[in-house]
Amino acid sequence: MRFAVPGIRDASRISAATLFVSHRPRRRFSQLPAAKRQPYWQKIHLWKDVSEEQFLSYRWQVANSIQGTSKLSAFLTNVLPNIIPHTARSESRHGHIKTRNNLIEDMLEGLGKAPMALRVTPHILSVIDWKIPLEDPIFRQFLPLGSNILPDHPMLTLDSLQEEADSPVPGLIHRYPDKVLFLATSVCPIYCRFCTRSYAVGANTDTVAKHSQKPSRKRWEAMYFYIERTPKISDIVVSGGDAYYLQPEHVVEIGTRLLSIPHIRRIRYASKGLAVCPSRILDTKDAWAAALISLSNRGRERGKHVALHTHFNHPNEISWVTELAAQYLYEKGVVVRNQTVLLRGVNDDVDTMRSLIRRLADMNVQPYYVYQGDMVRGIEDLRTPLQTILDLEENIRGTIAGFLTPSFVVDLPGGGGKRLAASYRTYDRKSGVSAFVAPNVKGGQTVYKYYDPVANN
Ligand code: SF4
Repeated sequence: MRFAVPGIRDASRISAATLFVSHRPRRRFSQLPAAKRQPYWQKIHLWKDVSEEQFLSYRWQVANSIQGTSKLSAFLTNVLPNIIPHTARSESRHGHIKTRNNLIEDMLEGLGKAPMALRVTPHILSVIDWKIPLEDPIFRQFLPLGSNILPDHPMLTLDSLQEEADSPVPGLIHRYPDKVLFLATSVCPIYCRFCTRSYAVGANTDTVAKHSQKPSRKRWEAMYFYIERTPKISDIVVSGGDAYYLQPEHVVEIGTRLLSIPHIRRIRYASKGLAVCPSRILDTKDAWAAALISLSNRGRERGKHVALHTHFNHPNEISWVTELAAQYLYEKGVVVRNQTVLLRGVNDDVDTMRSLIRRLADMNVQPYYVYQGDMVRGIEDLRTPLQTILDLEENIRGTIAGFLTPSFVVDLPGGGGKRLAASYRTYDRKSGVSAFVAPNVKGGQTVYKYYDPVANN
């Protein structure tokens, strides 16, 4: 799929064929035994006749992603049971949702209040258990219910990490001395309810007018200019939005330009793509993975490091397609790390988090971070108290090799950067207020506070 990039007139002329890679056929799906290659999307009545070839094509995934209220209503009408089943837990929270129509109405109300627009890929829609939607951890991450929404914490702000205040040029966040975040786009293949960057990412919603960072050469040039003139920067995260929504030629263009800067040693592409649309990595008609692999190789030749940082939150997000895609990247030498967000009712129990970490490790995806949920708008139902992440670390450390144990961190509200959750200076569990310091950020004098959700106090 192409989209126009203002000021990038020659982009359309850089075809996949001109990338400095050879396009050999990737891992063939047929190499996997048929018993493992279950058409998990065919559980959805709408897609019961969709072939493996269709489902795995990136074009099909993009064309059949659900976005907007009318597409969502039509999809839900097709996929939900007439009567919504309940467990004791869902009954207590959502007892008023008895029928499919009740649920659709509740969701439309939730969308009206949500800071994030709605877009969900077919892969993710296919791994939701639609027989028990109110208990499903994937449903909970991407589909807002009005009845779930709690009042925001009074100390919460839209740009909770104060990224815009740390941007010397629009779209470039310079917080740590040697690292910058290069926001190349503000579009994603999927929109997460809990996105930290809800102030900028995705389309405007009824509640948030976005400060978008659209792809634009003029803006990218200003960011390159700053990076070239700041020799202490050695590390760059190319993010957004999601690097999956950059054209392959733009992935190459940005990476090549950054690799050519002598003081840049490491580039990480941030993309949830492997988790939410893994077939793209294996789609021989699409050049995104080839672009990443070529940059990874080019970086290695120069003694530099190019990696992919992805974002799985629950083991149910992983299918056989995901495993094949991760294996393909591994065979091609691409380092992949994962950053999980801790979310109430999704992955806030030891068994789920441990299972996720193990599944990632077995796919050779490095479990890198588990983040405490950020204090962003509209998601108080998804945040946990700090104590949850402390308990998870205590119970998980020692159950898997140390190099596969992620760092359990808080990205400090107010722009203090990431600190180990257990490194708090004080934590008053009664009031739910924890305090941290960040000696290497902004002179190190500020005390940063994290506030547990009010519902827990
Ligand atoms: S993919 Fe990342 S940037 Fe995009 S909505 Fe999700 S968390 Fe935000």
